[in-house]
Amino acid sequence: MFREDILRMSGYVPGEQPQGRKLVKLNTNENPYPPSAKVVAAIKVAAEAGLQRYPDPAATAFRRRAAEVLAADCAAITPDWILCGNGSDDILTIVTRSFVAPGQAVRYATPSYSLYKTLAEIQGVGQDVAPYEADWSLGYRFAQANDEGRPVRLAYLANPNSPSGTRMAPGEVAALADTLTCPLLVDEAYVDFAETSCLDLVRTNERVLVSRTLSKSYALAGLRFGYVVAQPQVIEQLGKVKDSYNCDTLAIAGATAAIDDQAWLAANVAKVRAERKRLAQAVADRGFVVTPSDANFLWCTHPSNEHMALYQRLRDGGVLVRYMAYEGWPAGYDGLRITVGTPAQTDALLTTLDAVMKR
Ligand code: PMP
Repeated sequence: MFREDILRMSGYVPGEQPQGRKLVKLNTNENPYPPSAKVVAAIKVAAEAGLQRYPDPAATAFRRRAAEVLAADCAAITPDWILCGNGSDDILTIVTRSFVAPGQAVRYATPSYSLYKTLAEIQGVGQDVAPYEADWSLGYRFAQANDEGRPVRLAYLANPNSPSGTRMAPGEVAALADTLTCPLLVDEAYVDFAETSCLDLVRTNERVLVSRTLSKSYALAGLRFGYVVAQPQVIEQLGKVKDSYNCDTLAIAGATAAIDDQAWLAANVAKVRAERKRLAQAVADRGFVVTPSDANFLWCTHPSNEHMALYQRLRDGGVLVRYMAYEGWPAGYDGLRITVGTPAQTDALLTTLDAVMKR
């Protein structure tokens, strides 16, 4: 009944979203704070205005406000440079469907966001995977990975990367885009926590697309809203591939209020960055190797290599972090990815960590 390749797929496994027991939840890079009160107010207004009509298929209100805000980083941006999605996962789906056909391939680095692999599998296309170096640099391997005869038609680059939290400078990404013969989707899910963004690269290079999400820095993972910025002729084509009404009325209203509240964003990012610094130091003091992070999470490894046991013991103690393992980088490489939470959540993590590490 099903396509053979779908039957063979293991499918994307999202991080745990426990629905029952209350855990200190530091596993899926959510923001620990509630969103701007203006977001909740705008959603209420939209709901009270009625939901019997379809939403604006073009999410015009969001695109107008976003264009004004984003113009600070890339002066060329107007609403026709933006396409909205039901989370940036939806954007990644649209971009994959738009550029890559069977017989062709995508390229991505590993370890990185594991959805890239799943999207390639669903689309039935080849995968050209380039490993990060031990210091999380990409080097020439990404630009020259072996496509095994299938032309690479799209490259994904999470920047900052997950799980490492590391970032490539815009100049390096621009050079990479120039070496590639296909479009480069720069996945900036975590960019607001970082020092630099690649947004301005879209101005001069029609093969660079930058995706963003409101799930992390705007504290709206539950709302499902993301967008992509690219030159208007690229956005126009992507628009043919998206679902007709991929963003709902409440999400458009909430997202527009969120991007409008830049003061809330700045204050939130400052809090998360301050806590990131404290958490990194505290975890390092406990013997972990912590990769310097430009995101709202930390990649932590321990010389004991008992990451699975540590994850399990932390979970038993009420603290949920993410255990991650990547075959082939080098073989069996694993570690813990810990989301930056509130100061109280950091305290709870450290107390539990001290208890489980004594054992
Ligand atoms: N890109 C990266 C690198 C991510 O870690 C995530 C979060 N899982 C996403 C994109 C997707 O986020 P969302 O669909 O919530 O916008």
